[in-house]
Amino acid sequence: MSKPSPRLEVLNQTDWVPQNGRPLIIAGPCSAESETQVLQTARAVAKIPGVSIFRAGVWKPRTRPGDFEGKGVEALPWLKRVKLETGLLTACEVANTTHVYEALKFGVDVLWIGARTTVNPFSVQEIADALRGVDVPVWVKNPVNPDLQLWIGALERMSNAGIKRLGAIHRGFSDYTKSQFRNAPKWDIPIELKQLAPEIPIICDPSHIGGKRELIRELSQKAVDLAMNGLMIETHIEPDNAWSDKSQQLSPAQLQEILSNLIFRKVEGEGNGVETLAALRAEIDITDQQLLEILARRCQISRQIGEYKKSHNMTIFQVSRWKYLLEDRLVQAGQMGMEASFVKQIYKMVHDNSIRIQSKLMNPNGES
Ligand code: PEP
Ligand code: MN
Repeated sequence: MSKPSPRLEVLNQTDWVPQNGRPLIIAGPCSAESETQVLQTARAVAKIPGVSIFRAGVWKPRTRPGDFEGKGVEALPWLKRVKLETGLLTACEVANTTHVYEALKFGVDVLWIGARTTVNPFSVQEIADALRGVDVPVWVKNPVNPDLQLWIGALERMSNAGIKRLGAIHRGFSDYTKSQFRNAPKWDIPIELKQLAPEIPIICDPSHIGGKRELIRELSQKAVDLAMNGLMIETHIEPDNAWSDKSQQLSPAQLQEILSNLIFRKVEGEGNGVETLAALRAEIDITDQQLLEILARRCQISRQIGEYKKSHNMTIFQVSRWKYLLEDRLVQAGQMGMEASFVKQIYKMVHDNSIRIQSKLMNPNGES
């Protein structure tokens, strides 16, 4: 059953997020550690063209107790100083009512909801209630798990509380498969959000997707290619000495280098964001990667079936199974609007390959 469309009464992104073809850039350390670290980082990032908001985690959600959990309220005057000295707006994560009151009391300009909070509707509702009647921009990170409805639900709770400047942050998803990323990007999820709620701006957080500073460039470029509205990039005056997330933080010089080399592709026509040629091509790249991952998984299962047949002394090819499989897949493909001849060809190749994999297992020295 299809889900109801998102119910959001918010300003359209074009009314509050810069639309000059350049992304909104939020930069700053994972965590505020000391006044010096915060101010030195802020002074350096303020000089980088395009950076308009300074981020710093004040309360840090850590996986294990005992890790650095943020300086808390002590760090809020440092953010105030950042604003006064550099003119940058400031942003921090809020995860409960107290955080909301303290951050607003100290004049933090922009709030975000962290991925570990978005998973919990009770916490999101608590924050929404604390924000009722307050006119502050709120950015909601995707939940840790790849659940678009949970993400939409959190945005709806903020909208119901009267938040009008509401955005989403794509920071990747926990995944059981091992990959080069700390959090799997699953780009199709923010793309679907964009399609369901085009009024909501989406920015990308390549730092928490990548987990390694070497990946920030390509992830940022991908986000720009997908016509995302901005980037949130962790930047620290001395990344190697950071108290949290040190391997993914950039130095201000590295941030400047990456930002100045981003390629902005031409947006054809008046498309409302994602329907540009570059965005569609980027979507094809992502879909192909998923296709390959699924094919690789299928080959692996074929191998497991081969092992089973070998140990139970069974034949590789079973006509009835193949007949059933092809008929079933053709019906499914037809329902999805695909040509039978195209799908038949693909399945023939996939099946031949399965047989080859299994024959090789049975006769490791035979012809393949
Ligand atoms: C952060 O931005 O520092 C953070 C904790 O991110 P996330 O909620 O995406 O894990
Ligand atoms: Mn972090």
